[in-house]
Amino acid sequence: MKIALLSRNANLYSTRRLVEAAEARGHTVRILDVLRCYMNITSLAPSIHYKGEDLINFDAVIPRIGASVTFYGTAVLRQFEMMGVYPLNESVAVARSRDKLRALQLLSRKGIGLPVTGFANKPDDIQDLIEMVGGTPLVIKLLQGTQGIGVVLAETKKAAESVIESFLGLKASVLVQEYIKEAGGADIRCLVIGDKVVAAMKRQAKAGEFRSNIHRGGAASLIKITPEERSTATRAAKTMGLNVCGVDILRSTHGPVVMEVNSSPGLEGIESATNRDIAGMVISFLEKNWKQGKTGTKGSRG
Ligand code: ADP
Repeated sequence: MKIALLSRNANLYSTRRLVEAAEARGHTVRILDVLRCYMNITSLAPSIHYKGEDLINFDAVIPRIGASVTFYGTAVLRQFEMMGVYPLNESVAVARSRDKLRALQLLSRKGIGLPVTGFANKPDDIQDLIEMVGGTPLVIKLLQGTQGIGVVLAETKKAAESVIESFLGLKASVLVQEYIKEAGGADIRCLVIGDKVVAAMKRQAKAGEFRSNIHRGGAASLIKITPEERSTATRAAKTMGLNVCGVDILRSTHGPVVMEVNSSPGLEGIESATNRDIAGMVISFLEKNWKQGKTGTKGSRG
């Protein structure tokens, strides 16, 4: 196969591993910085140019689109689809999972376990919003945040009110969520490929911190997940329509709850925690599922 890999940085672990795995299987890979792609959307003759060159004859495209470039990145991915190139994850599925509200609404419609969550733009009654999700302690999240930035634990009503007020004062939309205290600062990252969880790791927050993000000092280790957690992760992936994704789960007293579905999961933490060749599994998924001109990959439409 001739594979396009949309990545802004060739030196990233995940990018390097995917190139290595594809080349080891006899494929050719071209790394493309998505922001440098420009497109012609003329009727029936879609094309993509890169540094003056017409990008043609690709069989498959692997999107590794950072959260900050979702809008343009999914447009480029969609253009590849218009040209008949098979996407590892479809543009519509990437966009669906990046929109936190839309993602939570779709998951809730399918009855998948979620933390009790409220969201607001300009509520006239902040106290009611707080009560709606069960009162404090609660977690307040900026809609645009990543890597744990903009995620705040408010232990008292007063703190919650003032954090919500100040976020809203900055014109940011917020998500207000039940605090899953029993998770003990740990979450579970399930790596889904196709309809299977192929690897899972636990991320434990450092002492005194409730956010388990590796970027916030969290530590990863191997974990055995329950059948319920396994099915929650695969159902969440299916609901988003993602073939490859990371599903983040918290263990709550009311069962596994999904926090997020990530369409460009990092490979470094999960490969080193589990000692598995995830990049190889991704490429072999492409080999099995790619078909000339096939671009609709799977999943619900929402
Ligand atoms: P980001 O997308 O910025 O990583 P998350 O929503 O994943 O933000 O939150 C970051 C971390 O904070 C999670 O990995 C988890 O450890 C912790 N966390 C988030 N929401 C909750 C919650 N409702 N209850 C308990 N811990 C939470």
